[in-house]
Amino acid sequence: METHINNCTFCDIISNKAPSEKIYEDDYVTCIKDINPASTHHYLILPNKHINNAKELCSIDDELYDRILSTVDIIAEKQGLDLTITRTGFHWPPFNTISHLHLHVISPICNLNLFKKFIFKPNSYWFVSVRIMHILKIINPLFQIDLKLMNIVLQTDYVKSYLKNRK
Ligand SMILES: [Zn+2]
Ligand SMILES: [Zn+2]
Repeated sequence: METHINNCTFCDIISNKAPSEKIYEDDYVTCIKDINPASTHHYLILPNKHINNAKELCSIDDELYDRILSTVDIIAEKQGLDLTITRTGFHWPPFNTISHLHLHVISPICNLNLFKKFIFKPNSYWFVSVRIMHILKIINPLFQIDLKLMNIVLQTDYVKSYLKNRK
């Protein structure tokens, strides 16, 4: 299985061929500072293995996906983030700028300007929270979800009530 692809900025960063500010790394994930931070803290958690985007995360990568999520807690601890005012999520294709899966960790949310609030709008069809990812994985473990289906999912009463109590 190919784990590194040429001409991928994040693969180069992971293998130290390109510069970055690494906050954390282990055998599975690497966490870097976003070069264009949306708030005081803005980190990207990358799987060391190349995966194009959230849509292509399939059930084979369940363990890796869990590692990405548990890294949020490691980063929060390391950088002193208050998770109640922290936003995490994935850009859904075609709205991802770099084609190497990355989980955004942004804190505090109140510092986002209007434009960034739009780009990182939780549970829009372009920025998908970890909670919605959880639902998508149940609905379609192969993750072959297009934007039309995503819109339908976000509009269901089940998802709406599921999201009601979150920030
Ligand atoms: Zn890559
Ligand atoms: Zn992104």
